[in-house]
Amino acid sequence: MSDRRYQDENGKLIFHASNLQNYFECPKKYELSTKIDLFEMTDAQRDGLLYEMYLFFNLEKYDDVMVKKLEGRKKSDTLDEIRAKAQSMSDYAQFDGQSFVPLSVDFGSFIIEGEADFIGNCQYRGKTIRCIADAKTTSDVYKLWLSKKTAYDYLQSVLYPMAWWKMTGEVLPFVYYIHDLKQDIKKTVLVKTTEQDFIDMEKRLTAIATEKSWEAKSCYENCIYNRYRTSCKYIAYCQQGAELYAPDEEITYGSLIF
Ligand code: SF4
Repeated sequence: MSDRRYQDENGKLIFHASNLQNYFECPKKYELSTKIDLFEMTDAQRDGLLYEMYLFFNLEKYDDVMVKKLEGRKKSDTLDEIRAKAQSMSDYAQFDGQSFVPLSVDFGSFIIEGEADFIGNCQYRGKTIRCIADAKTTSDVYKLWLSKKTAYDYLQSVLYPMAWWKMTGEVLPFVYYIHDLKQDIKKTVLVKTTEQDFIDMEKRLTAIATEKSWEAKSCYENCIYNRYRTSCKYIAYCQQGAELYAPDEEITYGSLIF
């Protein structure tokens, strides 16, 4: 189990962007994600994390032990390639600020926790802006980012500015710096948020944290074949999902046709 906390000592819910996102698809999926740790890092995710470490290498916090662990037995050519891609993003974005900034804010009914990859000045489409930035890697930027259409796909881009606003009073835009490592294509998504967005989100999250209602929203799209063409990863732990996926059947042989 990861050391991430989902409740404080008094039972107050702690929301992280990635697990809260599950709630808006299916509240039961959110609840299961706080209890069952299925996260096994794939090679691509390992490369992505290394890329982030290399990208922010020159900024203030750099966890050498973590990098060594991620590098593991990867070939030096592979590591050089990831380093070169991170360097090209670094040249492109020219990050100048703090990296891996912990965010933790108690909103009364719930807590938001996370870690911003970067907060400070950087280049965005030819101009210097101050923002919260997050580095993302993918092997198919077109498919993955075209499928992101909902407000909950972009939760991180409101939760992190919202936490920062509570911590400092400053409203910052959020920029995804996305790098397709396979095709070496870069893309940015800048998300502008306002204080009103934060107030609306606080109301929404207060309702979720107060009601604590984790009903299953079982349907074909949620449980069996989602937009990433996979089934829900918690289906083995969910009766409603499993019943949809593998319903018991009784067949009269004579009714079958050749
Ligand atoms: S299997 Fe379906 S109902 Fe169960 S948690 Fe997943 S999405 Fe929700």
